[in-house]
Amino acid sequence: MNREQAKVRIKKLRDEIDRHRYLYHVLDRIEISDSALDSLKHELDVLEREHPECIVPTSPTQRVGGKPLDAFQKVVHRQPMLSINDVFSPDEVKEWEARIAGMDPEATALGFYTELKMDGLAVRLRYDRGALVLAATRGDGRVGEDVTNNIRTIESIPLQLALPSSRWQELSPAQRAVLPRSLAQHVDRAIESGEIEIGGEVIILKKDFDTLNRMQEKSGQPLFANPRNLAAGSIRQLDPAMAASRRLQYVGWDIVTDLGQQRHQQSHLLLQLMGFKVNQCWERWCRSVEDVIEHYQTIGQQRDRLPFWIDGVVVIVDSVARYRRLGVVGKAPRGIIAFKYAGQQGTTMLKDIIVQVGRNGTLTPVAVLDSVQVAGTTVSRATLHNADEIERLGVKIGDTVIIEKAGDIIPKVVRVLENLRSGNEKQFHFPTKCPMCGSAVERKGVAYYCTNRNCFATQRERIAHFVSRHAVDIDGLGDKIIEQLLTEGLIKDASDLYELTVGDLEPLERFAQKKASNLVEAIAARRSVPLDRFIFALGIPQVGEQTARDLAAHFGSWKAIADASAEELEVVDDVGPIVSASVRDWLEQREHQNFLDRLLKHITVVNSQFPIPDSQLLGKTFVFTGELDSMSREQAQEKIRSLGGKATGSVSSETDFVVAGTDPGSKLEKAKKLGVKVLDEREFLKLISE
Ligand code: ZN
Repeated sequence: MNREQAKVRIKKLRDEIDRHRYLYHVLDRIEISDSALDSLKHELDVLEREHPECIVPTSPTQRVGGKPLDAFQKVVHRQPMLSINDVFSPDEVKEWEARIAGMDPEATALGFYTELKMDGLAVRLRYDRGALVLAATRGDGRVGEDVTNNIRTIESIPLQLALPSSRWQELSPAQRAVLPRSLAQHVDRAIESGEIEIGGEVIILKKDFDTLNRMQEKSGQPLFANPRNLAAGSIRQLDPAMAASRRLQYVGWDIVTDLGQQRHQQSHLLLQLMGFKVNQCWERWCRSVEDVIEHYQTIGQQRDRLPFWIDGVVVIVDSVARYRRLGVVGKAPRGIIAFKYAGQQGTTMLKDIIVQVGRNGTLTPVAVLDSVQVAGTTVSRATLHNADEIERLGVKIGDTVIIEKAGDIIPKVVRVLENLRSGNEKQFHFPTKCPMCGSAVERKGVAYYCTNRNCFATQRERIAHFVSRHAVDIDGLGDKIIEQLLTEGLIKDASDLYELTVGDLEPLERFAQKKASNLVEAIAARRSVPLDRFIFALGIPQVGEQTARDLAAHFGSWKAIADASAEELEVVDDVGPIVSASVRDWLEQREHQNFLDRLLKHITVVNSQFPIPDSQLLGKTFVFTGELDSMSREQAQEKIRSLGGKATGSVSSETDFVVAGTDPGSKLEKAKKLGVKVLDEREFLKLISE
C-alpha cells in the first residue's frame, strides 16, 4: 500500500470506527461485535504506526472513551483515565518489551505483573478519609460521569476502606515478602488522612448474565448483547434500584494515588487488604516476556471455565517508578499492554470468489481471503453458501468483510463493510461453465449444478493421484480427507493444497489441531518436487511413472518439456505419437495452463537425480516377478532406476532381464518363450552391486 492509498484507507477506517463507537458508547447500541471492531482498530493502529504523519488528535486511536451522557453530572478526573494499547501476538509482546527496554534498559528489571483483562466497565472510585465519596466512569478519559449512587449498590465495593495493617497477618508468607508491614502501616495513615483513588472494573458473572437475560426474555425486554453492554447500561441507569437488581460486581486492579508502593503487585495486595475483590488466583508475577506468553497461554486454556468474561491478559511493568518514567504515548501509558485473545470475528479483504463443485454436483461459492487471525487461528477461506447469499450480503470482490468463526464451524462471511469500499470492487458473476470440468451449469432453486455427473469424483481422483506415494507423496491425505476438503470448498484442485492453513482445517470433522498442523506441515514439506514425480503427478493420460522418468531424463527441466513439440517429444525412447499427442493435448488446455500457473507459484520443480552415465545398466529394461527376500519390489525398481535402467510391468521382446523371485507368475513363462534373460535374486544382486 503506498502513502496515498494508506491515507484513504486510514480515513475510511476512522469514520467507520467512530460511527460504531458512537452507536456503542453513546447510544448503547451494537451493530458489529467487539472483536470485529477491535480488528478494524488494530488495522488502523498498524497503518498509523507505518504512516505517523497521518495521526490526528481526532483519530479513534487517540481517544479513550465516548461522550458522557447529559443525565449524569460530569466529573473531571484528577488524573486522566488512560487507555491500554492492544497486542494480539507473542511477537508484538516481544516488540513492546524491546521498545521499552530501548528507552530504559532497567525498565523490566523487576519483571512484569500479569492480570486479567475483564470484559466490563472501568470505574474509578474516590475515597476521602476511607469513605467512598465518588465513582466516575471513564467518559472521554478526562471528563467522566458521576455514577456514585449506582456504584454504592454494588456490594463488592467497600463503602469504607479497611486499614491494610489490620489484615496484614492474613497474607501468606510469600505475600508478606512482597508487601512489608511498614508499607501497610504507611497506607493506613494515608487512608486516615486524605484521598485515595482506586481503579477497577464493573463486571457481571456469566451465570448472572444468563439469568438476567432469561428474565429479560420472559418479560419481553431486549436481551443484553454482552457483559460490558449490561454493566454500562446498568451503571448509567438513573434509578439506583434498577442498578441494584443487576448483580454487578467490582474488581479492583489499580491504586491510582501514590501511596509509596514500589511494585504494581503491592497495589493488588493492598486492594485486597482494603476490602476489594481482586482476581488473585489468575494473576501472576512474571520474570520474563517468555513467562508472560506462557501465562497468557495457560489462561487462554482456562478462559471458557472462568466465572466471568475476559478478552485478554494485562501486562504491566512491575516497577512503579520505572512504569512512571516510561510515560505516556498518545493516550496510553508505555509500560502497560493488553495482550488480547483473538475474537471470534475478524475483518479482512476478500480477494476473490472461487466456485467449488460438491459431491452431488452443486457449485458453492467460496471467499478467498487475505489471511486473518480469527478465534486464535489463521483463516484464508470462508464459505458464501450460494448465489442468494452473495446477493443478500451484497459482497463484491475486493470488499472488506467480517469473518466469523465460532466453535467448530466453518468460517463464514457475515457482513460487508460497504463504507470501506474504494470503488475498485468487482461484481461477482456465477460461471456458466463448470470451473472444474467445463461442462454446462444449470440452476435449480438457489443452487447451481454441474451437469457432468462424474465431475466431483474425477476431481477427487486427480488430487488423490497428485498426492500419491509415487507422485508428490504427501502424507496423511487420504481419499476421505480430499473429499472433505473439496466438499467444504477449501480446495478446488491440487494447487490449493499449498494454501491450506491450520485454521482452515481445524473446524472440519475429525480434525484436531495436531492433525491439522501435521497435514499443513506434510504439504509444506513437498514444496520442492523432483521433475519426474512432478510430470507423473499431473496425471497426463498415457504418461505413467516410467514415461515421466524418461521425459525428465531427456529434457532436464519442466520448461523444456512444456515447450517441446510433438516431434521433439518423440525423440525420447518409448515416446511414440500417441504419448506425444496426449502430452501436447493436455498442455494446451486452458484449464491445465491455469492449474500449472497456480501450482508453480507454490512449488519448485527440481531436476531429478540422474543415472551415473557409465553404468552398465544404462537403458536396460527389467521386469520383476515373484517376491524377493532382500528387498521389496519397489525398492528393487528404485535401485534399477537409480542405475539408469528401467523397470516396466510387462515382458516383451524389448525386455533385457526378467528377475524371478519366489513364486514367480506367468511373466517367467513369457520370458522363457521370448528368450529374455532370466535372473534369480542372487544373480540380480550381483549385477546391481557391480
Ligand atoms: Zn463439472
